[in-house]
Amino acid sequence: MNGIELLPVGEISVAVLDELRAGLVSVFRVRCEILDERLDPSFAFHAERKQYHSSQILARMRNALRGGTQRLGVAGVDLYIPILTFVFGEAEVGGASAVVSFHRLRQEFYGLPAAPEIERQRLLKEAAHEVGHTLELTHCDDYRCAMAPSHSVEWIDLKDAAFCHDCRETVFQAWNGNTARAGRPR
Ligand SMILES: [Zn+2]
Ligand SMILES: [Zn+2]
Repeated sequence: MNGIELLPVGEISVAVLDELRAGLVSVFRVRCEILDERLDPSFAFHAERKQYHSSQILARMRNALRGGTQRLGVAGVDLYIPILTFVFGEAEVGGASAVVSFHRLRQEFYGLPAAPEIERQRLLKEAAHEVGHTLELTHCDDYRCAMAPSHSVEWIDLKDAAFCHDCRETVFQAWNGNTARAGRPR
């Protein structure tokens, strides 16, 4: 059964998660639920950077995975991978888990007044992007597509939460090819 599970990572508001859940249902047209459990990300904390290593969070999520569903961690904390200053999210391409951070999507991070609607749209776009990677989507040249790469919030604001035609086809095949793929020899 295709679906998405949202795993709260650290402190993240229930209202933000609820809106994200509804948004992902309309983008992917599959069931989406918020898990009761919450992942404490303190094991992935880097004291000098004061950030959380997203790959370590993904590895922990993978161990806990039940299978059959894409699992998206939604983090309130700032994420990084060692070669970059920060990441908005990280995904296992063609895998089952991804993580996205709300931290740098908030206007407050840039010293600006809160803009809840814009911030929630940003989270939906980045969530759709990371889930897209788990469905084997790569970055897209169409700047409006959710799979366009974003290096700053300005880039995120330019794109949609929806996929372009080609990316949507790939998503459709990933969701609907699951049963067929499982039957073939690997
Ligand atoms: Zn990406
Ligand atoms: Zn695309």
